[in-house]
Amino acid sequence: MKYLIVGGVAGGATAAARIRRIDEFAEIVLLEKGKHISYANCGLPYYIGGVVKNRNMLFMQTPVSFGKRFNIDVRIENTVIGIDPVSKTATVSRSDGSEYIETYDKLLLSPGASPVKPPLKGIDSEGIFTLRDVSDTDRIKSWLQTHEVQNAVVVGGGFIGLEMAENLHQAGAKVAIVEMANQVMAPIDFSMASHVHLHLLQKGVMLYLEQTVERFERSNGKINVFLKSGTVITTDIVILSIGVRPETSLAKAAGIKIGETGGIWVNEYLETSSKDVYAVGDAVEFSHPVTGKPYLNFLANPANRQGRLVADNMFFGNTEKYEGAIGTAIAKVFDLTVATTGLPAKRLKQFDISYQSSHTHSASHAGYYPGSMPLSVKLTFDPVTGKLYGAQIVGYDGVDKRIDQISMLIKSGGSVFDLMKLEHAYAPPFSSAKDPIAIAGYVAGNIVTGRMPVVHWRDIQSVNSEEITILDVRTRQETSGGQIIKNSINVPIDELRERTGEIPKNKPVYVYCGVGLRGYLASQILIQRGFAQVKNLSGGYKTYAIASMPITTDFLNH
Ligand code: FAD
Repeated sequence: MKYLIVGGVAGGATAAARIRRIDEFAEIVLLEKGKHISYANCGLPYYIGGVVKNRNMLFMQTPVSFGKRFNIDVRIENTVIGIDPVSKTATVSRSDGSEYIETYDKLLLSPGASPVKPPLKGIDSEGIFTLRDVSDTDRIKSWLQTHEVQNAVVVGGGFIGLEMAENLHQAGAKVAIVEMANQVMAPIDFSMASHVHLHLLQKGVMLYLEQTVERFERSNGKINVFLKSGTVITTDIVILSIGVRPETSLAKAAGIKIGETGGIWVNEYLETSSKDVYAVGDAVEFSHPVTGKPYLNFLANPANRQGRLVADNMFFGNTEKYEGAIGTAIAKVFDLTVATTGLPAKRLKQFDISYQSSHTHSASHAGYYPGSMPLSVKLTFDPVTGKLYGAQIVGYDGVDKRIDQISMLIKSGGSVFDLMKLEHAYAPPFSSAKDPIAIAGYVAGNIVTGRMPVVHWRDIQSVNSEEITILDVRTRQETSGGQIIKNSINVPIDELRERTGEIPKNKPVYVYCGVGLRGYLASQILIQRGFAQVKNLSGGYKTYAIASMPITTDFLNH
C-alpha cells in the first residue's frame, strides 16, 4: 500500500508516523513544501521573543532523522500543485521548478491554513510580516536583530497576535495592538476579554480597539500605519495576525467538496468527498459536538488527534469515528493565562441557542497559603437542564487544569451539576477544599434551579434606579472604590436583617457585592422576607467594573 501525505507538520507527520507503526511495510511518501517538518509552530513566538533561546529546540525531528526513524520518504521543498483522484496521482513541483507525478493508493491532505493578508496599500512593505512557519520566524528574528526596534504594531488581537505582542515586548519593543473588534481574543466573551484588556494596558501595551488599518507607508526607515479613524501609528515592525484561512486550493481544484465554512468537507472518518482521499488539521471543517454545525478549529491538539486517527482509518478501512473538538484553547498573555472551551455566550446567541451564564471569582488556591492569585470563571449552560456549553477562565495560576476538566465534561455531555461532583486533588498550595470550578458549578446550579435569580453586568448598565432598587451590600469602605449607580442603596450584608425596612418592597431589587457571594446571601435574606423580584449581580462589582472599564490609550500621551 502506498500512502502519499501532503504537509509534514502537525497532522501530516503524526499520520505518517502512525501509519508506519501499524504497517511496517507500507510505502509512505511525505511531501512538504517548506524546509522543515514536524516542528513546534506553537513555539515560534517564544523563539522570536528570546524565551526559547536555541532555534534547534523548535525541531522535534529533521527530515533526515524522521525519514530514518520511521523509514519514510520525506521530501522537503516539494510542493504538491495538483491532485487527480481519478488516476490517483499528484503533481509535485521541486524547488528548482521541475515537476513530477507521484501515484498513491491513499492520499492525506494536511496542508494547514494560510494567513489572511488583505490587499491594503503598502502591505508588502519591508518590515511587515505574517507568522506561520519557520521561514517567517527567521525573517522576523533577523529584522529584530538588524534593526533598532523600539516600537511594534501587531494587527489582530487573537491568541497568536497577543503571544507576539508579549514576545515583542519581551524583545524590548513598545507594542501597540490594532484590533477591528471591540475586544481581543475573539473566542471569549467581552466580560472575560476585559481582564485581558486591563492587563495589557497595565503592561504598557497600547490597545486600539474597533480600529481598522487603512494602509501602510514606509518612510525614513519607519512604517506608518494609517487607521481609518485618522490615527497614524509610526513603528519599526508590523506583525499581521489577522487570522487564517483553511488551505483548500488543492482540494478545490481537484473537485473535492468544500464545506459551508470554507474548510475541506470530511465525513466522520475524516475522508473527503473523494474516495481514498483523507484530510485533517486546520484545512478541514467538522461537526461541532455541541452545535452539530460545521466548525473550523485552528488548533494543534485536534490536528494531532486527527492525524493519528486518520492513519488507522486509512490502514484498517474506516473504523474510527472522529468525535470532534470544541475549541479548547489556552494562551499566556504576559502574567495572565486565558483559556476557553466550548461555546461562549456570543456564539450561543449567534446560533440562537437559549443559554444562561455565571461569573465567579475565586482564588487559585487557599487564600492563606502564599501565592494565591485571583481566578475568574465564566460558564455558559442550558438554563433548564444545566447542560454545560462552555467555559472561559482567566487567572494567573491553575487555569490550565480547570479548563481541561471542564472541557472533558462538556465533551461527555456533562452539566453544571457534574462540576460539583468533580473530585479534585486538594492541599492548600494547589486548590481549596471547594475548588473554583466546584464553586462555579454551585453558583450555576443555583441559577438553574431558580434558587438564585441573576442579573448580568450588561443588563444593570441601563437600569433606571427609579424603577429598580440597586442594593450594594458591600462594606462602606468598599463602596469608596466605586459603585454601580451613584444612588444605589448601601446596606452592608451584616446590617441587612435589621435594615430591610429601608428597601422598597414595591419594585424589583438588584443586589450586588464584590464578587457575588454576599449578594447571594443578601438575596436569600430578602427573598425569604417577602421581597418578590430579587436578583443578584453575577460576578458582582468585579465583573461589572472590569467589563465597563473604558479602554483608553489617552494616558500614554501624558
Ligand atoms: P500545519 O502544522 O500548519 O502543517 C501544514 C504543512 O503543510 C505546512 O508545513 C505547509 O508548508 C505544508 N503544505 C501546505 N500546502 C502544501 C502543498 N501544496 N504541498 C506540500 N506541502 C504543503 N495551536 C495550539 O493549539 N496552541 C498554540 O499555542 C498554537 N500556537 C501557534 C503559534 C503559531 C505561530 C502558529 C502559526 C500556529 C499555532 N497553533 C497553535 C496552531 C497549530 O500550529 C495548528 O493548528 C496546527 O499546526 C495545524 O496542523 P496542520 O497539520 O493542519 O497544519
